[in-house]
Formats: sequence, C-alpha cells, structure tokens
Amino acid sequence: MHANCPVCGLRFVREPGYFVGAMYFSYLLSIPPVFLLVLLLWRLTGWRYDLVVLAAFVCYLPAVPAVTRWARVIWMYVDQHFDPERST
Ligand SMILES: [Zn+2]
Repeated sequence: MHANCPVCGLRFVREPGYFVGAMYFSYLLSIPPVFLLVLLLWRLTGWRYDLVVLAAFVCYLPAVPAVTRWARVIWMYVDQHFDPERST
C-alpha cells in the first residue's frame, strides 16, 4: 500500500491505528455473504450447524483480501467526509 495517493498526494494512514475503524465496514461487508453461504451449505449438505459455519468461513477466506481493501476505501471516504484533510 502506498503511503500517499499517487494522484492527489492524500496521506492514507493519518495516525497509528488509523484503519482499525475499517474493521466495522469489513464486518458489515462480510456478514451477508457468509450468512448466504451458511444457508446454502446448510440446505445443500445437511451437515451439522457448527460444521456448516466453519465451512462457510473457509469458503469465504479467498474474498478477505478484497473485502479488506474495500473496507479501507469506505473508511477513508467516511473519514474524509467528516474530517477532511487537504492533500499536501
Ligand atoms: Zn487521491
């Protein structure tokens, strides 16, 4: 990840722990697809519920890097909306 936006120079990490807030958006983005995976696996396999939940999270793992980046982008948009920082 770049320290600054290559186009406008915006500093991405404004302070230590800046992206902790992105975890809220990561959570919001992840729950619906994992819930759908749980429902699908439960209907299709007939496995025990705890196994279905574990399998759904394992199936979801390849999407985690993309969702993490989307969550960071959403976090930066929200942060810039409420506390804008001029590019340097
Ligand atoms: Zn930019």
